[in-house]
Amino acid sequence: MKPAPFDYHLPATIEEALDLKARLGGEARFLAGGQSLVPAMNFRLARPSALIDINGLMELAAIDEGSDGELRLGALVRHRDLERRPEVARRHPLLREAAAQVAHPPIRVRGTIGGNLAHAEPASELPSVMVALGARMRARSLNGERWIEAREFFTGALSTALRDDELLTEIAVPKLPPRTGTCFLEMARRRGDFALMGVAATITLDPRRRCIAARLVYCNADDRPFDAAAAAATLIGKRIAVATVDAAASAAARAMRPGGSIHASAAFQRHLATTLTRRAVLEADGRRSDECPTPGNHNNQRRALSAHGRDTAPARRFPAPRAAADGHPCRVRRSLPAVCRVAASSSFGNGSDAGETWSAQANGRRASSGLPIRNQPTRRFRHPGADQQGQQSRHQAAGKEPRPVNHL
Ligand SMILES: Cc1cc2nc3c(=O)[nH]c(=O)nc-3n(C[C@H](O)[C@H](O)[C@H](O)COP(=O)(O)OP(=O)(O)OC[C@H]3O[C@@H](n4cnc5c(N)ncnc54)[C@H](O)[C@@H]3O)c2cc1C
Repeated sequence: MKPAPFDYHLPATIEEALDLKARLGGEARFLAGGQSLVPAMNFRLARPSALIDINGLMELAAIDEGSDGELRLGALVRHRDLERRPEVARRHPLLREAAAQVAHPPIRVRGTIGGNLAHAEPASELPSVMVALGARMRARSLNGERWIEAREFFTGALSTALRDDELLTEIAVPKLPPRTGTCFLEMARRRGDFALMGVAATITLDPRRRCIAARLVYCNADDRPFDAAAAAATLIGKRIAVATVDAAASAAARAMRPGGSIHASAAFQRHLATTLTRRAVLEADGRRSDECPTPGNHNNQRRALSAHGRDTAPARRFPAPRAAADGHPCRVRRSLPAVCRVAASSSFGNGSDAGETWSAQANGRRASSGLPIRNQPTRRFRHPGADQQGQQSRHQAAGKEPRPVNHL
Protein backbone atom coordinates (compact mmCIF):
# COMPACT_ATOMS: atom_id res chain seq x y z
CA MET A 1 0.00 0.00 0.00
CA LYS A 2 0.97 3.61 -0.42
CA PRO A 3 0.70 6.34 2.22
CA ALA A 4 -1.88 9.10 2.11
CA PRO A 5 -0.50 12.36 0.60
CA PHE A 6 1.74 14.45 2.87
CA ASP A 7 4.10 17.43 2.72
CA TYR A 8 7.78 16.79 3.18
CA HIS A 9 10.15 19.17 4.98
CA LEU A 10 13.91 18.80 5.34
CA PRO A 11 15.11 21.28 7.98
CA ALA A 12 18.82 22.11 8.17
CA THR A 13 18.89 23.01 11.86
CA ILE A 14 17.17 21.92 15.06
CA GLU A 15 15.63 25.39 15.41
CA GLU A 16 14.14 25.12 11.93
CA ALA A 17 12.71 21.69 12.78
CA LEU A 18 11.19 23.02 16.01
CA ASP A 19 9.78 26.02 14.21
CA LEU A 20 8.14 23.79 11.60
CA LYS A 21 6.65 21.56 14.29
CA ALA A 22 5.31 24.54 16.22
CA ARG A 23 3.68 25.92 13.05
CA LEU A 24 2.34 22.63 11.63
CA GLY A 25 1.14 21.23 14.98
CA GLY A 26 0.20 17.68 15.93
CA GLU A 27 -0.70 16.70 12.35
CA ALA A 28 3.00 16.88 11.42
CA ARG A 29 5.39 14.12 12.50
CA PHE A 30 9.16 13.97 12.80
CA LEU A 31 10.70 11.38 10.49
CA ALA A 32 13.80 9.65 11.88
CA GLY A 33 14.64 6.12 10.66
CA GLY A 34 11.10 5.64 9.37
CA GLN A 35 11.06 2.00 10.48
CA SER A 36 7.87 2.39 12.51
CA LEU A 37 6.32 5.50 11.00
CA VAL A 38 6.58 4.57 7.31
CA PRO A 39 5.00 1.09 7.67
CA ALA A 40 2.22 2.70 9.74
CA MET A 41 1.70 5.27 6.96
CA ASN A 42 1.74 2.60 4.28
CA PHE A 43 -1.01 0.73 6.12
CA ARG A 44 -2.83 4.07 6.60
CA LEU A 45 -2.67 3.57 10.34
CA ALA A 46 -0.96 6.96 10.45
CA ARG A 47 -1.88 9.85 8.13
CA PRO A 48 0.35 12.78 9.02
CA SER A 49 -0.26 15.88 6.95
CA ALA A 50 3.47 16.61 6.91
CA LEU A 51 6.77 14.89 7.64
CA ILE A 52 9.67 16.80 9.14
CA ASP A 53 12.73 14.78 8.20
CA ILE A 54 15.36 15.17 10.94
CA ASN A 55 18.01 12.97 9.30
CA GLY A 56 20.03 16.01 8.24
CA LEU A 57 20.50 17.19 11.85
CA MET A 58 23.85 15.54 12.38
CA GLU A 59 24.38 17.04 15.83
CA LEU A 60 21.67 14.61 16.95
CA ALA A 61 23.77 11.62 15.89
CA ALA A 62 26.57 12.07 18.44
CA ILE A 63 27.61 9.66 21.17
CA ASP A 64 29.52 11.38 23.99
CA GLU A 65 31.11 10.01 27.12
CA GLY A 66 30.85 12.63 29.82
CA SER A 67 33.65 13.06 32.35
CA ASP A 68 31.17 12.04 35.06
CA GLY A 69 30.75 8.70 33.30
CA GLU A 70 27.37 9.56 31.84
CA LEU A 71 26.79 8.35 28.29
CA ARG A 72 25.03 10.91 26.08
CA LEU A 73 23.24 9.51 23.06
CA GLY A 74 21.83 11.79 20.38
CA ALA A 75 18.29 10.93 19.27
CA LEU A 76 19.55 9.99 15.79
CA VAL A 77 21.99 7.35 17.06
CA ARG A 78 21.07 4.19 15.14
CA HIS A 79 20.43 0.82 16.76
CA ARG A 80 23.47 -0.43 14.87
CA ASP A 81 25.65 2.18 16.61
CA LEU A 82 24.44 0.97 20.00
CA GLU A 83 25.38 -2.51 18.94
CA ARG A 84 28.79 -1.67 17.47
CA ARG A 85 30.28 1.42 19.11
CA PRO A 86 32.95 0.51 21.68
CA GLU A 87 32.06 3.35 24.07
CA VAL A 88 28.53 1.96 24.35
CA ALA A 89 29.79 -1.56 25.05
CA ARG A 90 32.29 -0.20 27.58
CA ARG A 91 29.84 1.96 29.50
CA HIS A 92 26.58 0.14 29.02
CA PRO A 93 26.80 -3.43 27.76
CA LEU A 94 23.09 -3.73 28.50
CA LEU A 95 22.32 -1.25 25.72
CA ARG A 96 24.40 -3.17 23.25
CA GLU A 97 22.86 -6.46 24.28
CA ALA A 98 19.31 -5.17 23.91
CA ALA A 99 19.94 -3.28 20.65
CA ALA A 100 21.24 -6.46 19.04
CA GLN A 101 17.80 -8.01 19.62
CA VAL A 102 15.84 -5.21 17.95
CA ALA A 103 14.44 -6.35 14.61
CA HIS A 104 16.85 -7.33 11.80
CA PRO A 105 20.13 -5.72 10.70
CA PRO A 106 18.67 -3.57 7.86
CA ILE A 107 16.11 -2.15 10.30
CA ARG A 108 18.80 -1.57 12.93
CA VAL A 109 20.92 0.32 10.41
CA ARG A 110 18.08 2.82 9.78
CA GLY A 111 16.12 2.82 13.06
CA THR A 112 17.13 5.37 15.69
CA ILE A 113 17.09 5.33 19.46
CA GLY A 114 15.04 8.56 19.52
CA GLY A 115 12.43 7.18 17.12
CA ASN A 116 12.25 3.95 19.05
CA LEU A 117 11.70 5.67 22.40
CA ALA A 118 9.30 8.28 20.98
CA HIS A 119 7.29 5.50 19.33
CA ALA A 120 6.92 3.77 22.76
CA GLU A 121 5.95 0.32 21.54
CA PRO A 122 5.24 -1.74 24.71
CA ALA A 123 7.09 -4.79 23.34
CA SER A 124 10.15 -2.78 22.42
CA GLU A 125 13.45 -3.56 24.13
CA LEU A 126 15.06 -0.14 24.55
CA PRO A 127 12.34 1.54 26.66
CA SER A 128 12.66 -1.12 29.36
CA VAL A 129 16.45 -0.86 29.22
CA MET A 130 16.27 2.93 29.63
CA VAL A 131 14.04 2.57 32.68
CA ALA A 132 16.35 -0.09 34.15
CA LEU A 133 19.39 2.15 33.66
CA GLY A 134 17.66 5.23 35.08
CA ALA A 135 18.13 7.24 31.86
CA ARG A 136 16.82 10.77 31.24
CA MET A 137 15.39 12.14 28.01
CA ARG A 138 16.02 15.68 26.79
CA ALA A 139 13.06 17.28 25.05
CA ARG A 140 13.34 20.58 23.15
CA SER A 141 10.75 22.97 21.77
CA LEU A 142 10.78 26.64 20.79
CA ASN A 143 9.82 27.39 24.40
CA GLY A 144 12.95 25.78 25.84
CA GLU A 145 14.05 22.36 26.95
CA ARG A 146 13.40 19.94 29.79
CA TRP A 147 14.69 16.60 31.03
CA ILE A 148 12.24 13.74 31.58
CA GLU A 149 13.09 10.66 33.66
CA ALA A 150 12.70 7.43 31.66
CA ARG A 151 10.23 6.03 34.19
CA GLU A 152 7.96 9.05 33.55
CA PHE A 153 8.57 9.27 29.82
CA PHE A 154 6.41 6.30 28.80
CA THR A 155 2.77 7.01 29.54
CA GLY A 156 1.01 4.18 27.72
CA ALA A 157 1.01 2.12 24.53
CA LEU A 158 2.51 4.30 21.77
CA SER A 159 2.32 7.36 23.98
CA THR A 160 4.93 9.41 25.81
CA ALA A 161 5.28 12.53 27.90
CA LEU A 162 6.56 14.44 24.83
CA ARG A 163 4.34 17.38 23.93
CA ASP A 164 3.20 17.96 20.36
CA ASP A 165 5.81 20.66 19.74
CA GLU A 166 8.70 18.80 21.38
CA LEU A 167 11.59 17.00 19.76
CA LEU A 168 13.47 14.31 21.67
CA THR A 169 17.08 15.37 21.18
CA GLU A 170 19.20 13.37 23.58
CA ILE A 171 19.23 10.51 26.04
CA ALA A 172 21.58 10.60 29.05
CA VAL A 173 22.41 7.27 30.66
CA PRO A 174 24.15 7.50 34.05
CA LYS A 175 27.29 5.57 34.89
CA LEU A 176 26.79 2.13 36.39
CA PRO A 177 27.86 1.87 40.03
CA PRO A 178 30.80 -0.44 40.82
CA ARG A 179 30.05 -4.15 41.31
CA THR A 180 27.03 -3.92 39.01
CA GLY A 181 26.04 -6.66 36.59
CA THR A 182 23.45 -6.32 33.84
CA CYS A 183 21.63 -8.64 31.48
CA PHE A 184 18.87 -8.36 28.90
CA LEU A 185 17.02 -11.50 27.86
CA GLU A 186 13.94 -11.93 25.73
CA MET A 187 11.88 -14.64 24.12
CA ALA A 188 10.56 -14.01 20.61
CA ARG A 189 8.95 -16.41 18.16
CA ARG A 190 11.71 -15.81 15.64
CA ARG A 191 14.92 -13.86 15.83
CA GLY A 192 14.12 -10.22 15.04
CA ASP A 193 10.47 -10.43 16.05
CA PHE A 194 9.10 -8.26 18.83
CA ALA A 195 9.56 -9.96 22.20
CA LEU A 196 6.79 -12.09 23.66
CA MET A 197 8.45 -11.18 26.93
CA GLY A 198 11.77 -9.56 27.80
CA VAL A 199 13.56 -8.43 30.91
CA ALA A 200 16.33 -5.96 31.63
CA ALA A 201 18.03 -6.83 34.92
CA THR A 202 20.64 -4.84 36.82
CA ILE A 203 22.05 -5.80 40.21
CA THR A 204 24.63 -4.09 42.38
CA LEU A 205 26.33 -5.84 45.28
CA ASP A 206 28.35 -4.53 48.22
CA PRO A 207 31.88 -5.81 48.87
CA ARG A 208 30.40 -8.60 51.03
CA ARG A 209 28.34 -9.71 48.02
CA ARG A 210 25.00 -8.60 49.38
CA CYS A 211 22.63 -6.96 46.94
CA ILE A 212 22.31 -3.21 47.49
CA ALA A 213 20.36 -2.28 44.34
CA ALA A 214 18.35 -4.20 41.76
CA ARG A 215 16.11 -3.32 38.83
CA LEU A 216 13.85 -5.69 36.92
CA VAL A 217 12.12 -3.99 34.00
CA TYR A 218 10.06 -5.91 31.47
CA CYS A 219 8.93 -5.34 27.92
CA ASN A 220 5.54 -6.58 26.70
CA ALA A 221 4.39 -7.03 30.28
CA ASP A 222 2.11 -3.97 30.36
CA ASP A 223 1.18 -1.01 28.14
CA ARG A 224 4.60 0.54 28.95
CA PRO A 225 7.89 -0.75 30.40
CA PHE A 226 6.93 -2.63 33.55
CA ASP A 227 9.22 -1.74 36.44
CA ALA A 228 8.86 -4.56 38.99
CA ALA A 229 10.31 -2.42 41.77
CA ALA A 230 8.65 -4.30 44.62
CA ALA A 231 9.84 -7.67 43.32
CA ALA A 232 13.39 -6.34 42.79
CA ALA A 233 13.38 -4.92 46.31
CA THR A 234 13.05 -8.44 47.72
CA LEU A 235 16.65 -9.04 46.56
CA ILE A 236 18.05 -6.13 48.58
CA GLY A 237 20.21 -7.13 51.54
CA LYS A 238 20.47 -10.72 50.34
CA ARG A 239 23.08 -12.75 48.53
CA ILE A 240 22.08 -13.74 45.02
CA ALA A 241 20.95 -17.37 45.20
CA VAL A 242 18.50 -19.40 43.15
CA ALA A 243 15.79 -19.46 45.84
CA THR A 244 15.96 -15.69 46.37
CA VAL A 245 15.90 -14.99 42.66
CA ASP A 246 13.02 -17.41 42.08
CA ALA A 247 10.96 -15.64 44.73
CA ALA A 248 11.62 -12.24 43.10
CA ALA A 249 10.84 -13.66 39.64
CA SER A 250 7.50 -15.08 40.80
CA ALA A 251 6.60 -11.82 42.52
CA ALA A 252 7.36 -9.85 39.35
CA ALA A 253 5.32 -12.25 37.19
CA ARG A 254 2.35 -11.98 39.53
CA ALA A 255 2.47 -8.18 39.54
CA MET A 256 2.67 -7.61 35.78
CA ARG A 257 -0.31 -7.18 33.43
CA PRO A 258 0.66 -8.79 30.12
CA GLY A 259 -1.95 -8.41 27.41
CA GLY A 260 -1.65 -11.88 25.86
CA SER A 261 -1.97 -12.45 22.13
CA ILE A 262 -2.60 -15.22 19.63
CA HIS A 263 1.09 -16.11 20.01
CA ALA A 264 1.28 -16.20 23.79
CA SER A 265 -1.42 -16.16 26.43
CA ALA A 266 -0.96 -13.91 29.45
CA ALA A 267 -0.29 -17.02 31.55
CA PHE A 268 2.46 -18.11 29.18
CA GLN A 269 3.94 -14.60 29.20
CA ARG A 270 4.08 -14.77 33.00
CA HIS A 271 5.76 -18.13 32.78
CA LEU A 272 8.33 -16.66 30.38
CA ALA A 273 8.88 -13.73 32.74
CA THR A 274 9.66 -16.09 35.63
CA THR A 275 12.15 -18.11 33.63
CA LEU A 276 13.80 -15.13 31.96
CA THR A 277 14.12 -13.28 35.26
CA ARG A 278 15.85 -16.18 36.94
CA ARG A 279 18.31 -16.51 34.08
CA ALA A 280 18.89 -12.78 33.69
CA VAL A 281 19.59 -12.11 37.37
CA LEU A 282 21.98 -15.05 37.69
CA GLU A 283 23.69 -14.01 34.47
CA ALA A 284 23.94 -10.41 35.68
CA ASP A 285 25.53 -11.68 38.88
CA GLY A 286 28.03 -13.72 36.85
CA ARG A 287 28.97 -10.63 34.83
CA ARG A 288 29.17 -8.33 37.82
CA SER A 289 32.47 -6.55 37.93
CA ASP A 290 33.85 -3.06 38.28
CA GLU A 291 34.57 -3.11 34.60
CA CYS A 292 31.29 -4.44 33.24
CA PRO A 293 32.47 -7.43 31.24
CA THR A 294 31.17 -8.04 27.78
CA PRO A 295 27.75 -9.65 27.56
CA GLY A 296 27.27 -12.90 25.74
CA ASN A 297 30.05 -14.70 27.58
CA HIS A 298 28.45 -18.04 28.25
CA ASN A 299 31.29 -19.08 30.51
CA ASN A 300 30.02 -16.37 32.82
CA GLN A 301 26.59 -17.90 32.74
CA ARG A 302 28.01 -21.32 33.51
CA ARG A 303 30.00 -19.83 36.38
CA ALA A 304 26.96 -17.97 37.62
CA LEU A 305 24.68 -20.98 37.43
CA SER A 306 27.11 -23.34 39.13
CA ALA A 307 27.92 -20.74 41.79
CA HIS A 308 24.22 -20.66 42.61
CA GLY A 309 23.89 -24.41 42.84
CA ARG A 310 21.93 -24.95 39.64
CA ASP A 311 22.06 -28.59 38.60
CA THR A 312 23.87 -27.98 35.34
CA ALA A 313 26.01 -30.82 34.12
CA PRO A 314 29.61 -29.86 34.85
CA ALA A 315 31.66 -29.13 31.77
CA ARG A 316 33.75 -32.12 30.81
CA ARG A 317 37.33 -31.14 30.33
CA PHE A 318 39.68 -32.81 27.93
CA PRO A 319 43.31 -32.10 27.30
CA ALA A 320 43.96 -29.66 24.51
CA PRO A 321 44.20 -31.56 21.23
CA ARG A 322 47.67 -31.22 19.79
CA ALA A 323 48.12 -30.75 16.12
CA ALA A 324 50.44 -33.16 14.36
CA ALA A 325 53.94 -31.97 13.54
CA ASP A 326 52.86 -30.77 10.13
CA GLY A 327 50.04 -28.78 11.71
CA HIS A 328 47.38 -30.96 10.14
CA PRO A 329 44.56 -31.28 12.67
CA CYS A 330 42.82 -34.28 11.05
CA ARG A 331 45.09 -36.63 12.90
CA VAL A 332 44.37 -35.39 16.39
CA ARG A 333 40.71 -36.24 16.05
CA ARG A 334 41.26 -39.89 16.74
CA SER A 335 42.79 -39.13 20.15
CA LEU A 336 39.62 -37.36 21.37
CA PRO A 337 36.75 -39.18 23.07
CA ALA A 338 34.01 -40.04 20.59
CA VAL A 339 31.49 -37.73 22.24
CA CYS A 340 33.32 -34.59 21.28
CA ARG A 341 34.44 -35.43 17.78
CA VAL A 342 31.74 -33.49 16.00
CA ALA A 343 32.42 -30.41 18.08
CA ALA A 344 36.14 -30.86 17.62
CA SER A 345 35.76 -30.99 13.89
CA SER A 346 33.82 -27.80 13.75
CA SER A 347 36.25 -26.12 16.13
CA PHE A 348 39.15 -26.96 13.95
CA GLY A 349 37.16 -25.89 10.94
CA ASN A 350 37.81 -22.32 11.86
CA GLY A 351 41.11 -23.12 13.49
CA SER A 352 40.33 -21.25 16.69
CA ASP A 353 40.84 -23.71 19.52
CA ALA A 354 44.14 -25.40 18.77
CA GLY A 355 46.65 -25.18 21.59
CA GLU A 356 44.17 -24.13 24.28
CA THR A 357 42.61 -26.13 27.06
CA TRP A 358 39.56 -27.58 25.54
CA SER A 359 36.25 -28.31 27.17
CA ALA A 360 33.16 -29.96 25.77
CA GLN A 361 29.79 -30.76 27.12
CA ALA A 362 28.73 -32.82 24.16
CA ASN A 363 27.55 -35.83 26.15
CA GLY A 364 23.78 -35.69 26.27
CA ARG A 365 23.47 -32.76 23.86
CA ARG A 366 21.57 -33.19 20.66
CA ALA A 367 22.78 -32.37 17.20
CA SER A 368 20.58 -30.62 14.65
CA SER A 369 19.37 -34.00 13.40
CA GLY A 370 17.85 -34.62 16.84
CA LEU A 371 20.13 -37.56 17.66
CA PRO A 372 22.31 -37.30 20.75
CA ILE A 373 25.73 -36.24 19.58
CA ARG A 374 27.41 -39.43 20.76
CA ASN A 375 25.12 -41.43 18.41
CA GLN A 376 25.92 -39.32 15.39
CA PRO A 377 28.10 -40.80 12.72
CA THR A 378 31.46 -39.06 12.93
CA ARG A 379 31.54 -36.31 10.33
CA ARG A 380 34.47 -36.22 8.01
CA PHE A 381 36.59 -33.20 8.62
CA ARG A 382 38.21 -31.64 5.62
CA HIS A 383 41.13 -29.39 6.35
CA PRO A 384 41.18 -26.28 4.16
CA GLY A 385 44.70 -27.18 3.04
CA ALA A 386 43.87 -30.83 2.35
CA ASP A 387 43.43 -30.36 -1.37
CA GLN A 388 46.68 -28.47 -1.63
CA GLN A 389 48.48 -31.20 0.33
CA GLY A 390 47.05 -33.89 -1.94
CA GLN A 391 48.18 -31.91 -4.94
CA GLN A 392 51.59 -31.47 -3.32
CA SER A 393 52.13 -35.23 -2.87
CA ARG A 394 51.12 -35.85 -6.48
CA HIS A 395 53.38 -33.03 -7.54
CA GLN A 396 56.36 -34.47 -5.61
CA ALA A 397 55.67 -38.00 -6.85
CA ALA A 398 55.95 -36.59 -10.35
CA GLY A 399 59.50 -35.42 -9.37
CA LYS A 400 58.68 -31.69 -9.46
CA GLU A 401 59.81 -28.99 -6.99
CA PRO A 402 57.44 -28.74 -3.95
CA ARG A 403 55.07 -25.81 -4.09
CA PRO A 404 54.52 -23.63 -0.98
CA VAL A 405 51.54 -24.93 1.04
CA ASN A 406 49.00 -22.48 2.35
CA HIS A 407 48.11 -23.73 5.86
CA LEU A 408 45.11 -21.53 6.57
C1 LIG B 1 9.97 -5.74 10.60
C2 LIG B 1 10.19 -4.87 11.79
C3 LIG B 1 10.56 -5.45 12.99
C4 LIG B 1 10.77 -4.67 14.10
N1 LIG B 1 11.14 -5.26 15.28
C5 LIG B 1 11.38 -4.48 16.36
C6 LIG B 1 11.81 -5.06 17.58
O1 LIG B 1 12.01 -6.26 17.72
N2 LIG B 1 12.02 -4.23 18.63
C7 LIG B 1 11.84 -2.87 18.54
O2 LIG B 1 12.04 -2.15 19.51
N3 LIG B 1 11.45 -2.30 17.39
C8 LIG B 1 11.23 -3.08 16.30
N4 LIG B 1 10.82 -2.50 15.15
C9 LIG B 1 10.58 -1.04 15.12
C10 LIG B 1 11.78 -0.28 14.89
O3 LIG B 1 12.99 -0.85 15.12
C11 LIG B 1 11.81 0.95 15.76
O4 LIG B 1 10.66 1.18 16.44
C12 LIG B 1 12.11 2.05 14.88
O5 LIG B 1 13.47 1.91 14.62
C13 LIG B 1 11.75 3.42 15.41
O6 LIG B 1 12.76 4.28 15.11
P1 LIG B 1 12.78 5.14 13.79
O7 LIG B 1 13.99 5.95 13.89
O8 LIG B 1 12.64 4.27 12.62
O9 LIG B 1 11.49 6.06 14.03
P2 LIG B 1 10.43 6.55 12.98
O10 LIG B 1 9.71 5.40 12.40
O11 LIG B 1 11.00 7.53 12.05
O12 LIG B 1 9.46 7.34 13.97
C14 LIG B 1 8.69 6.67 14.93
C15 LIG B 1 7.85 7.69 15.69
O13 LIG B 1 8.67 8.48 16.52
C16 LIG B 1 8.58 9.88 16.18
N5 LIG B 1 9.92 10.40 16.31
C17 LIG B 1 11.03 9.94 15.68
N6 LIG B 1 12.10 10.60 16.14
C18 LIG B 1 11.67 11.49 17.04
C19 LIG B 1 12.31 12.45 17.85
N7 LIG B 1 13.64 12.61 17.84
N8 LIG B 1 11.57 13.21 18.69
C20 LIG B 1 10.23 13.04 18.73
N9 LIG B 1 9.56 12.15 18.00
C21 LIG B 1 10.28 11.38 17.16
C22 LIG B 1 8.03 9.90 14.79
O14 LIG B 1 7.33 11.10 14.52
C23 LIG B 1 7.13 8.70 14.79
O15 LIG B 1 5.91 9.03 15.39
C24 LIG B 1 10.61 -3.26 14.02
C25 LIG B 1 10.27 -2.67 12.81
C26 LIG B 1 10.06 -3.46 11.70
C27 LIG B 1 9.70 -2.80 10.41
